[in-house]
Amino acid sequence: MATTSSVTLEKLTSLCKRRGFIYQTADIYGGLNGVYDTGPLGTLLKRNIRKAWLKSLEKTGYDILQIEGALLTPEAVWEASGHLAGFQDPMVDCTECKHRYRADDIDVEKACPHCGNKAWTAIRQFNLMFKTQVGAATDASSVAYLRPETAQSIFINFKNVMSSNRVKIPFGIAQIGKAFRNEITPKQFLFRMREFEQMEMEWFCKGENAEEYFKKWIEIRKNFYKEIGINLDRIRIRPHDKDELSHYSSATSDVEYHFPFGWKELEGIANRGNFDLSRHTEYSGKDLAVYDDETKSSYMPHVIETSVGTDRLFLTILFDSYSEEAVEGETRVALKLSPQLAPYIAEFMPPSKKIAEPMEKIYRDLKKKGYAIQFDVSGSIGKRYRRQDEIGTPLCFTYDFDSEQDSSVTVRNRDTMAQERIAIDQIETYIQNTLG
Ligand code: ATP
Repeated sequence: MATTSSVTLEKLTSLCKRRGFIYQTADIYGGLNGVYDTGPLGTLLKRNIRKAWLKSLEKTGYDILQIEGALLTPEAVWEASGHLAGFQDPMVDCTECKHRYRADDIDVEKACPHCGNKAWTAIRQFNLMFKTQVGAATDASSVAYLRPETAQSIFINFKNVMSSNRVKIPFGIAQIGKAFRNEITPKQFLFRMREFEQMEMEWFCKGENAEEYFKKWIEIRKNFYKEIGINLDRIRIRPHDKDELSHYSSATSDVEYHFPFGWKELEGIANRGNFDLSRHTEYSGKDLAVYDDETKSSYMPHVIETSVGTDRLFLTILFDSYSEEAVEGETRVALKLSPQLAPYIAEFMPPSKKIAEPMEKIYRDLKKKGYAIQFDVSGSIGKRYRRQDEIGTPLCFTYDFDSEQDSSVTVRNRDTMAQERIAIDQIETYIQNTLG
């Protein structure tokens, strides 16, 4: 059995569409660049990604509360956060072929990579926020933006959360939700999208402890990737150079993954200092400082942020788990997903419709208990195995003509393709042990 790692973006994109993970939004109308819909399998995988992320926060033992902020936000928030003035990328066009680029993606000293001419426009700054109008009036007060990050919803609710939940510094606020960026050149499938989801956590602490927590959170996040089965050889932590740091950050480290198109940011971990709460205090006129009972004085908490895109992680997980093996002269494609992430943990497949009933009963009973499982009776067993391999299902159970006599089924393992016979009343335990 030879394993190759010949995964390409094209292969993954086509698998995603073929098997129902991801579809291009409005593809029957030609699509919308940088925007995607999630199919049934993708929805299950995303649900498991979110679950794993939340579980990793729970496991810290820290007080971390979850919120869901609105997607529409008034302009004042983005003025205070600095996005209105600074959330922009440099843009340049080729006047010959009209191709548009992010100016920091290409070398404008050289010719256009698309048409080979060197005829650039001047470089302009382009703000990435989607602007809209709320209500019928079109004055300045009706301007709103689709949030370009979830973090600001957390900062503007910091005092609400603190005063309504009896939490004390240090504590965290986590959020999973949509963000929107009008990226100049959306590309690489789910890597750079215009509408995407973020999983962010803001950790509020005293300034003197911020550096220590920054280091701690880097370790916690690294461990998360290990726990969900990402190959750690393809993960690295890259501290930002001083000239790379965002306006709010005193230190940032990216968790990078080695994609087929190079080492790229998967998650950002930043020590934001007290920039955000101070700015919102200044711009809103509401004091967001916290009173310290011990020192009998107020202070502005500092913030450590961890921020990862659900969709970018989704793509990473697909790249990382994709395998091709030569099996009996054919190529077997398998997603070797960690069982906690796999859309389905098991498939139940009787060899023929004639003896489908007992297996269907076992399947229905387990499904009612909440297991993510499937039942499939049509097609050859070999074809059904291949399909399940391709969508990453760890276990396949078959009920055959001997099952009635020995009250057992055959279970086949996705990764090793090994089969073993187990008692029917052990199926649930077997699944639970696989889920870990
Ligand atoms: P990049 O340098 O790749 O544009 P960024 O530094 O602007 O990313 P952050 O603002 O730190 O990104 O966003 C935090 C996380 O949100 C990123 O690490 C990534 O996982 C995700 N993310 C950001 N922009 C996009 C996008 N356009 N499409 C998908 N995910 C994104």
